[in-house]
Amino acid sequence: MLPDEWVETYLFRVARANGIRCPRLSDTERIRPTLPTTILSKPDGYPIWSDSTLPRWSVVTRVNKIRYCPECMTRSRHIRSRWRLSVFDVCTIHHIRLKDDLAEPVMTKGYGQENRYFVTEVTDEQLWAGAVCPMPGERRHVERLWSGFERSIVESDIRGAFKHLTCILFLEALLDALATTSREFEDVPLGIPRSTELAKLVEGYRFPLSATLDGIGNFLDQITEPTHRIVVLARLRRMLIDESHRPTCLSNVPIADLRRRFLLGAQKNATTSPHALLYPSQARAAGYVTFQRAVSLIGCAPRLLKQLIDSNICQGASVAQYGGRRHIFLPQHTVEECSKWYASIATFEQVMKELGIDRRGLLALLSARLLRPIAVHMPTFFQRSDLTDLCRRLEDVARPFPTKAAHLHPLLGEWIPSSGRYRPASLKVLTEAFSGKFPVFRQMESSGLSTYFVDHTALERVRRLRKGDIARHRHQEYSSRQPSLLPE
Ligand SMILES: [Zn+2]
Repeated sequence: MLPDEWVETYLFRVARANGIRCPRLSDTERIRPTLPTTILSKPDGYPIWSDSTLPRWSVVTRVNKIRYCPECMTRSRHIRSRWRLSVFDVCTIHHIRLKDDLAEPVMTKGYGQENRYFVTEVTDEQLWAGAVCPMPGERRHVERLWSGFERSIVESDIRGAFKHLTCILFLEALLDALATTSREFEDVPLGIPRSTELAKLVEGYRFPLSATLDGIGNFLDQITEPTHRIVVLARLRRMLIDESHRPTCLSNVPIADLRRRFLLGAQKNATTSPHALLYPSQARAAGYVTFQRAVSLIGCAPRLLKQLIDSNICQGASVAQYGGRRHIFLPQHTVEECSKWYASIATFEQVMKELGIDRRGLLALLSARLLRPIAVHMPTFFQRSDLTDLCRRLEDVARPFPTKAAHLHPLLGEWIPSSGRYRPASLKVLTEAFSGKFPVFRQMESSGLSTYFVDHTALERVRRLRKGDIARHRHQEYSSRQPSLLPE
C-alpha cells in the first residue's frame, strides 16, 4: 500500500496488477480478506487509521465521489484515505481545494457522466483542469485546523495524526453548529463552500483554533454570545447522546467535563446579566414555564402577556434563541403573581357588566374620578377592589327604597348630562352622593350601581351649584376688572 492509500482504490489496483483489466466489486471483495493490510477493512469504504471508528457525519461511503488534490495526485497516482473525510476540503500541503471529477468504474455512482476521468487513465492536464486555491482567509483557517494532522500522516505518524483528527472533528462539529445559527440570523450567501463559511465565522468572532485538547478548552472559553452558547451546549449534549449509542473517536475527548466547565462559565455570565438566555430544557429545569403555558395559567390573551413582559410588569422573563425560534420563559413565581394580578383586574366591559351600568355611566364615574384606571400602557384596566369599594360606600349611606318611586332618578341617569354647562356640577353632585350628602335610595332587586337612585334633592343641588358657579365666575370677572390697590 502506498502512503495513506485508500483501501478501496488499493483493492482495484491489486486486482488490475493481477491481470483483471476491468475489475468488478466482486473481485475486490474476493481480495479484501486475503491481504493483511485490507483484512480489517469493510466494504463501506470509510477510512481507517485506528481501532476507534469515526463519526458517520465526518466520513463518506464508497459510493461518494472520489476527491483529490491535483498536486498530490501528480506526485503519486493514488487516492488518499484523508480525502474520504467529508470535512476535509483543502490540501494543506499544496493549498489546493480538492477536486471531484475522478471515477473508479463500477464503484462510484455516475462514473459515466461527462467530464469524469478514470483514475487509471487521467492525464496531468486533466488533473489540473479547473483546480482552485482557497482565498487567503480560508487558507489560514484550514491550515490552523488541518495542517498538523496532514503533516503527521505524511510523516507516517498515524497515532499522532489520529489524535489531531479527533480534536479537529470535535471542533468541526461545534463550528458546524455555530455556522447553522449564523446562517439563520446573518446574511450568509447560499452555495458557498462549507470551509469558506466556517473560515468567515472563525475570523469574524476571532475564535482561537488549535487541534489539541487545550485548544478545545480555549475555543470553548471564547464562546460568549448567548445564541452561540446555546447551540454549543445543545451540540455537546447531542454528542454525549450519540457517543453513548455508538462510541467513536470523539469519546477520547472528555465531552462531559468540557460541557460542565462550559456551563459553569455560563453561570458566571448569568450572574452579571439577570436576563441571561437559557437553553429550553435548562430553563424548564430551573423552574421556568413556557410562554404558552403561562398564557393558559394566567388565562389572559397572549398579546397582553407580551405587553406585560415588554412593560416589565411581568418580570424575570428569559428569552432563549434556539435555531430560528425564539422561546420566552417565565419564572414560575412570576406566572403565579401575574395570574393573581390578572384575577384582580377588570376590563372596561367587565366593569360595565359587574356594576350594571352603561358606557355613559362608566364615563361619568371616570370623569368624577370615582374610578381610576390602572396606569399601564395598554388596554384600560380597573382594580376589582375599587369596584367593591365603590359599592360599599353607597351601601353605607343608602336608605331603603320608598314605596312611591315616581320622583326617583337612577344614580347614573339622565340627570348627569354627557356634556354641556351642567356637566361639572352634576359630576360634583355624583361624588357627593357617595359621601351621603343627600338621600340615596337602594332598590333591593337589582345589583351593582343600577340599584341606587337619587331624588329631587340631587337635581336641586346641581342647579344650586351651577348658580353658585355662575356667581363666582361673575365675581372673578368683576374683580379682575378692578385696579389693584395692593403693591405689585
Ligand atoms: Zn496536495
